[in-house]
Parts: sequence; structure tokens; C-alpha cells
Amino acid sequence: MLDHLTYTAPEPKTIQGAKQDWELVIGLEVHAQVASNAKLFSGASTGFGAEPNSHVAFVDAAMPGMLPVINEFCVAQAVKTGLGLKAAINLVSAFDRKNYFYPDLPQGYQISQLYHPIVGEGEVIVDMAPGVARRVRIERIHLEQDAGKSIHDMDPNMSFVDLNRTGVALMEIVSRPDIRGPEEAAAYVAKLRQIMRYLGTCDGNMQNGNLRADVNVSVCAPGAYERYQETGDFSHLGTRCEIKNMNSLRFIQAAIDYEARRQIAIIEDGGKVVQETRLYDPDRGETRSMRSKEEAHDYRYFPDPDLLPLEIEQGWVDEIAGAMPELPDEKKARFVTELGLSEYDAGVLTAEVESADYFEQVAAGRDGKQAANWVINELFGRLNKEGLSVETSPVSAAQLGGVIDLIGSGAISGKIAKELFEILWTEGGDPAQIVEARGMKQVTDLGAIEAAVDEIIAANPAQVEKARANPKLAGWFVGQVLKATGGKANPAAVNELVAKKLALA
Ligand code: ADP
Ligand code: MG
Repeated sequence: MLDHLTYTAPEPKTIQGAKQDWELVIGLEVHAQVASNAKLFSGASTGFGAEPNSHVAFVDAAMPGMLPVINEFCVAQAVKTGLGLKAAINLVSAFDRKNYFYPDLPQGYQISQLYHPIVGEGEVIVDMAPGVARRVRIERIHLEQDAGKSIHDMDPNMSFVDLNRTGVALMEIVSRPDIRGPEEAAAYVAKLRQIMRYLGTCDGNMQNGNLRADVNVSVCAPGAYERYQETGDFSHLGTRCEIKNMNSLRFIQAAIDYEARRQIAIIEDGGKVVQETRLYDPDRGETRSMRSKEEAHDYRYFPDPDLLPLEIEQGWVDEIAGAMPELPDEKKARFVTELGLSEYDAGVLTAEVESADYFEQVAAGRDGKQAANWVINELFGRLNKEGLSVETSPVSAAQLGGVIDLIGSGAISGKIAKELFEILWTEGGDPAQIVEARGMKQVTDLGAIEAAVDEIIAANPAQVEKARANPKLAGWFVGQVLKATGGKANPAAVNELVAKKLALA
């Protein structure tokens, strides 16, 4: 189905001021909060914005003797996400303790999955332009706990801690270093977000931190990446730095751009890039060192003795697979092949599942392209202007469908249809009834149109002379007749009658 896509190789980047061409190599670790009402190992609520420390079970606060109990729904969500990324599902996985001290981590360790993640290798197709895509391999997805939140800006002398987020389920989605530029990195995160929103496994709210990414960046000379791909040997690649906790697509791009330039400058000056963890400062547009690179052994990982290995059955996975919704790529391809939409329009309409659903209701039993034009140009245009979304649209799919039907039956012209849309937007109501009650019906009565044409011709003898000499000027009469009839005269009929009358006059 995706055969029509061209997979592009990246262009080497000429960085201004650099002595030679460089290529960027980027791998992302995306943390996606699992859409679930309860946490990964406790029944406490995951609701956002609650009173601090009001959603904390004893196990989240690491009270002595409390034991974690796995939340089956969170596991199902991870499996569903894995299936959505065409990934292998591991029927046996296990939880490990990642030990470190932090005030917002009362256990003194995070429960994660280092050695046996629940999801293995998969892929994401990243759309770069209509018909052009890149394939990014997924290495793994593991389930882990989120930490709490330290609050340093509420009091000059004290820090506070809010444990509401402690223990909330995260999926860490680790990509291979297959991303080759800032735009691609942003498009990759956007695609992941789109897929998970279709699946209902993560709400993708980046502002609330429900989707955030650690961005690994390195640079290499042209050709080095191909050697890595052929051999799987990472030593062909440059040393990477990891930029932590990015929750904006714009900042991800800016941080990669800055980081690549920084590394190139170091190498070209004869220095060496030091592998480290860095932070992006959006105010200064820079990354700065946070800590030197930590290794797995620094965390003293070991299997969590409080949790049994997680064994799931193939039958359960098949059940989840059987209940998968149509994914964005499939929907987009169907809109192109079955409804005749352009790749671009299909992309716009499938960006959000709610938009796609709305469009499909409008298009049902109608012309797909006409429905797409109305939804994209009139509806989305208006929604954007007012800062609304399809879910809060004042005009329903049924109402917009009604407008299109009235055009189709010849009851109203395209121009009147826009006025009708405006009335529906501000006042609501039934499109057909409004047209009837307000006399908006198109005049197809030729007698009435003829009378209007005669009147205009009689009142403008000088214009008639000119139009006879230059038939292009007949348009002026058409415009006058349409104006005189309040835009309700059938334009085709007016055109025909004007031409006829001018020739006869
Ligand atoms: P760690 O667990 O130590 O952070 P991993 O080897 O699991 O390291 O890699 C983490 C991320 O870094 C992955 O997304 C991977 O694709 C990416 N990555 C690895 N090597 C490079 C590199 N040379 N340049 C850019 N990204 C890289
Ligand atoms: Mg890492």
C-alpha cells in the first residue's frame, strides 16, 4: 500500500562556516505517557492538574512494605502501541530497578525494563512531503514509571515535591539512529504522536509533558552512515550527545541545529566531542552540558524482586490486534485511492483522527473531493481563525453535508452556500429550512432572470454598445444581474441569457 512512497536519502549538509560537508545522525528516545486512568503499579489516579500530592498511593510514596501490582490496561496499551509501529511483541518481558537518588523519586529507583522490553523492533514511516517518506527503525519500547516533580520556584528558601506523577506509566520508544535532520526529527515525533492518538494509547499533549523526547545527535562525514548501515558497527558514527527532555517540536529542531554546529566546530578545530548529557536553553537557543554520560552499570540495574516476569499470551495479543483502529497511513491511502483526494488533502484530513472522522461523515454518500474542499477550505479555515477544533466546531458534519446537498440539487449557488455556512456558524439551524425560510433559493425561473437581464440592458445603452464591440465586456452585465438578484440567479442561465440578448439587441 505504501509502494508509491519514495524513500529519500538525506543530502549532506553544508553548514555555513564549516570547512567540509557533514551529515547529521539522530536517534530519539521518546517518553510517551500511557493513556490510562490509573498508574502502572498502583490504583492512584493519573489526572492532570490536581492538588499536589492528592494522587499518591502508598506504593507510589514508597511506604515500607508496599508492593507494586501491574496494571493490565497499561500493558495492553503498550502492546497496542507496538502493533501500531509494526513491531514484535515479546510474550515474556521483565522489570528491572534503575537505581538513583532524586528527591522526586521516593523509592530510590525507577522500575523500568532494561534487559527484556515488552516491545521489540518496529518501524515508523515519516512523511516529509507528498509521496516522499523516510523509514525510521524502532529498536524497542519498554514500560517504566515516571518520577514526581520538584518545585523550586514557589519559595525562596525551600523546594517542594509533588508526587502526583510518581508511578504514572510511560512507554519509552527508542529509535535507531536513522533520523538525518532537524525537520525529520520533528516529523518523526509528530508521526509517533499521530499514531498513538489514533490508537488512544497516549494523548500526545506535549505542553503537559505527556510526550517528550531525549534527542541524541552526532555528526559524521558523508558516507560514514552508509558504512554503519552495512555493517551495524556504531564506530563508523561520530560521538553523540543526548539533549534531555524536549517537549516542543520547534525546540527539538533548534536544539539539533545548534548541537550539530557546536560539534562540527569542535571537530574542525581539532578537538573531540565528549559524550555527555546536555540541556537545551530555549531563551538562549543553546545546549549546555548537564552531566557526563552515564552507563547502565552506573544505575546498578537488577531484576525487580517484587515483580514476576511479565508473561502474556499470543491469544491476548491477537485480540488486541483484532480491535486495532485504522491507522493514519492506511486511512490516508484509502482517501487517495477510494475518494480520489490528492495526497496533500488526504494528509491534512488525516492529521487528527477527529478531523478524519468529521470528513468521512461529510463525504458519506457525497463527492469526496467536494467534501474535502468544504472541510479544508471553509471549515478548517474558519476553525483556525477562531482557534477552535473540529470537536468544538459550531457547524456539525451533518449540517455541512446538508449545505453540499443543497448545492448538488441546484437549490443554491456556491456563493449563497458560503452565506449559508456563515449563518450555520453563527446561528445554527437546519440548512434546508434556512434556505427555504430566508428565500435564499437560486432563481432558476428563466422568465424572472430574463426580466432582470432586460432591465439592465435597457438601463445601460452605452455599455451595450461597448459590449457589442468587445464581447469580453459581457461579464459586466452578468455581474449586474447577479447583484440585482442578490446572487440568487443561476449563473449559468444568466451567462447564456446575457450573451443571447446582447447579440439580439
Ligand atoms: P543509552 O541507553 O546509553 O542512552 P543507546 O545505545 O540505547 O544508549 O541509544 C540511545 C539512543 O541514541 C538511541 O535512540 C540510538 O538510536 C541513539 N544513538 C546511538 N548512537 C548514536 C549516534 N552515534 N548518533 C546519534 N544517535 C545515536
Ligand atoms: Mg539514553
